[in-house]
Amino acid sequence: MPVLLLILAIGVFVWLWLARRGSTLTRLCRWREDRRVGPGHFRCAACGAECILPPGQVPRHCLRDAG
Ligand SMILES: [Zn+2]
Repeated sequence: MPVLLLILAIGVFVWLWLARRGSTLTRLCRWREDRRVGPGHFRCAACGAECILPPGQVPRHCLRDAG
């Protein structure tokens, strides 16, 4: 069934393209403070990383690679 192989190849290509595009998007992290959890608790909306910082500080780097 060469048609299935062709569809599979296209699917892999699209998946790789989406994964590459997603990796570039995660470079721009969107940290948002979640006051429901606690003061100074930030969550990255891009990669889901979490961290707790002292009041007045904002996370500047993505923790995706660190985890
Ligand atoms: Zn992040």
